[in-house]
Amino acid sequence: MARRLRALAEIPVKELRGVGDKKVAGLAEMQIESVLDLLMHYPRRYIDRTQQAEIRTLQIGEEAMVLATVKRVVARRTRNRRSLVEVDVFDGSGYLHCTFFNQPWRARQLAAGTEAVFFGKLEMYRGRRQMTSPVVDLVGDRTGRMVPVYPQSEKSGLSTWDLAQWVEEALRRAGELADPLPASWRDELDVPGRTWAFSHIHNPESVGAARAARKRLALDELLRLQLALVMRKRALEREAKGIRHTIDGELVRRFHAKVPFALTGAQRRACEEIATDLAGPHPMHRLLQGDVGSGKTVVAVTALLMGVQGGYQGAFMAPTEVLAEQHFLGVRQLLADLSVRDDATLIGERPLRVELLTNRTTAKERERLAAGLRAGEVEMLIGTHALLTEGVEFARLGVVVIDEQHRFGVEQRALLRAKGDDPDVLVMTATPIPRTAAMLVYGDLDLTVLDELPQGRSPVATVWARGALEEAEAWRRVHEQVAAGHQAYVVCPLVEESERIQARSASVEFARLGAEELSGLRLGLLHGQMASRDKEAVMAAFRRGEVDVLVATTVVEVGVDVPNATVMVIEDAHRFGIAQLHQLRGRVGRAPAASWCYLLGETSTPEAEERLEALERTRDGFELAEVDLELRGEGSILGTRQKGRSDLRLASLRRDKDLVAEARRVAFAIVDADPHLTGHELLADELRLLVDEEEAEFLFKS
Ligand code: ADP
Ligand code: MG
Repeated sequence: MARRLRALAEIPVKELRGVGDKKVAGLAEMQIESVLDLLMHYPRRYIDRTQQAEIRTLQIGEEAMVLATVKRVVARRTRNRRSLVEVDVFDGSGYLHCTFFNQPWRARQLAAGTEAVFFGKLEMYRGRRQMTSPVVDLVGDRTGRMVPVYPQSEKSGLSTWDLAQWVEEALRRAGELADPLPASWRDELDVPGRTWAFSHIHNPESVGAARAARKRLALDELLRLQLALVMRKRALEREAKGIRHTIDGELVRRFHAKVPFALTGAQRRACEEIATDLAGPHPMHRLLQGDVGSGKTVVAVTALLMGVQGGYQGAFMAPTEVLAEQHFLGVRQLLADLSVRDDATLIGERPLRVELLTNRTTAKERERLAAGLRAGEVEMLIGTHALLTEGVEFARLGVVVIDEQHRFGVEQRALLRAKGDDPDVLVMTATPIPRTAAMLVYGDLDLTVLDELPQGRSPVATVWARGALEEAEAWRRVHEQVAAGHQAYVVCPLVEESERIQARSASVEFARLGAEELSGLRLGLLHGQMASRDKEAVMAAFRRGEVDVLVATTVVEVGVDVPNATVMVIEDAHRFGIAQLHQLRGRVGRAPAASWCYLLGETSTPEAEERLEALERTRDGFELAEVDLELRGEGSILGTRQKGRSDLRLASLRRDKDLVAEARRVAFAIVDADPHLTGHELLADELRLLVDEEEAEFLFKS
């Protein structure tokens, strides 16, 4: 009978021939405990023996791979006491000299007679062909054309050759594997069967076979993850009663008439999608993704008002005090003369009440607020995670908005939701992630994208100041703009050690700039270690235009909105990530006046260079997100959410965009026909096995 993955997960590796106690410990280092773990320890790459070069024909400066036998090993110390291992290898065509500094263990690894593959760049040194610290893979004497090379951990002491042997035995013993995808689906999706895929990912006879095997196994991973996400989404919809909001009413109309601009097409579409969700029987779980400055706040307030006009309350949670305060000030102003029905008053209505709750709110004020909330007299509560505290109880919480979600965990989202009876939830993020990535990271949410910036924005001229001349231009620009009545930000270098050291270095930089480059201007200082009161005071002064230049740490990154600011100078820009630089830059260019962003700093690495060049080249957050993905890999995106991640070994956002979409489509088809996977017992079993336990429990409880 065909074996299930679960059965393989139950066989410990020590049952394989040649795996003794010492090897078991080595494998455990690599988190390989069962035969399934071993089979899912996929090759990192393959050595195609037909692509091997001959030492004799290599050109100087060329990167190449040679398969050769070690002839001689010498370990010694250099004059300055560094360890040096020199190895001479021979491949039948010629000799190559390899040197390894500070890797004394190479002498043991590469004993005379060892056969290995050496990757590196060919140099000529004192008349000898040489590679300095080449990458070494021990392959043993395998005969196939494609040789798998396995990821190894330094500590495990196992060679890729050991692994290949055990995998071969594991495959033999596993025999025929049960396949959760019926043949008709495999045809449609153009993927091979599972047994074939496992066998060929480890032992392909050609590059094409390896590729097909990989596609199948990556699809399995993505399908499991999408099934989990889609089931979660449907379970939430099923379980929750949800509120059918009256989306048509006075408040939203009056609000839209009152905002001092026309909504963009994207904003209107977003409002419509949200309206449909709110009117529907299921609670909304929607992600609103919009680049910096795309105008998410108006959409959020619209959603909240749609709830309020039907008699419900709204909660708006922001990640920082600065941002919560700013939202509060902005929203209160926007809603200043809107009123709600109140039969207890003489004229049958009273002003709509918006309140702020942060950690700064005094105990007395909190009490007053709590009473107002419980009595249903506060329509809208804006604040930080203080909203999640126990004393905060709503009479009728209807709509929840969470701004800049990447700062909050999934649990916090759930906590806020639990303050009401299945309120509608809108999550907002300004970190643009590619659509396929969104399907992975936020796959249990519906997605709305604000893909249009409001009119009247000036493009921000971005200059990577590579030298002293351009740096001088940056400071000159600050002076020029302040003289013209505008304002500027200076973001201080990132200090990794701690918040405290970061704050101190910002204070030092603040003093230095005041005395040197920016002397004569009114500077303000903002960093994370300041008392809230001081933070708010300096922000208020900046908003009022009483501070010309705000010298800050990355606390200004998120959402700070002062349209009069037209210059942003980022010091040591090479130390920031793309997303962060993009966020920072988004603080300027918020009005029709021309704006500039100067990126100071030399580039330490080619990667940093690419980052800064990308920022110079484009302002499109999605394009930047793609660059980021290229440079840093999926960890940059998936890192924000751990669940389901452990199962993604092969699938890659970069390489498998289409496969992600495909998996999602299939997952919807399966779950919508069979919500509990009763007819897909194998799939269900694999989900339980490979997807996070807690998650699985939630999915399968009916
Ligand atoms: P973000 O999406 O970054 O949160 P905000 O909601 O803070 O963007 O909006 C950025 C700025 O653009 C604010 O000053 C806001 O008043 C303004 N704004 C929003 N929508 C429009 C629009 N349709 N036309 C003109 N300005 C707008
Ligand atoms: Mg915002």
